Amino acid sequence: MNLILLGAPGSGKGTLAKNIQAEFGLIQISTGDLLRQAMSVESEISDKLKSYMSKGELVPDELVLEILQERISQDDCKYGFILDGFPRTVPQAEALKNIAVIDGVILIDLPFDVIEQRIAGRRICTSCGEIYNTSSYDKLSCKKCGAPLYQRDDDKLETVKVRLEVYEKSTAPLIDFYSDKLYKVNASGSPEDTYKAAKTFLIKLEK
Ligand code: ADP
Ligand code: ZN
Repeated sequence: MNLILLGAPGSGKGTLAKNIQAEFGLIQISTGDLLRQAMSVESEISDKLKSYMSKGELVPDELVLEILQERISQDDCKYGFILDGFPRTVPQAEALKNIAVIDGVILIDLPFDVIEQRIAGRRICTSCGEIYNTSSYDKLSCKKCGAPLYQRDDDKLETVKVRLEVYEKSTAPLIDFYSDKLYKVNASGSPEDTYKAAKTFLIKLEK
């Protein structure tokens, strides 16, 4: 089973993907994480990636596609995966048709003002990638592995505004693109509530 998680930045795609991975065994593929990894290794493309990502702009489709294709071709993805942060444009969705069959798309629905608050409080573990929010966990180190937490560079308010605009303009049209396999999940509650709602859909999809 191959899934797409659609939703604005900060709507909780990463957290939901991790929960689905834990129970359904599907592999989370976050293009944001893959790009941040590529950016952290000094290379010709790392400076280029930084110039887009630090401003909250999208990385050009060819670059993202290359990185995605390389990840999907790895062995662990053959039993199914969850795309978190891809596709983000209609051309990316068109290109994806040639790479994989998508069984379902989950749209995470959350008002923009809540999103801004959530992103401001988002903290991530430097080691295991666990995602926290200062509103429910205000410690400086990870509950799971003890490593320090950090705030993403592009989680500053000005950059968040750009990312939300980019989402509206380039990514929201995918809601229509995938209308025949889309399931909408309300994310105003806890991460567990969001997961429960998504799970109902996934169980139906598995049958
Ligand atoms: P969020 O969903 O919270 O914005 P991500 O980690 O998914 O965070 O993405 C961070 C940044 O990485 C984006 O602002 C963009 O610059 C880049 N990026 C991630 N996925 C894509 C993609 N599919 N196409 C283009 N750029 C991407
Ligand atoms: Zn950790």
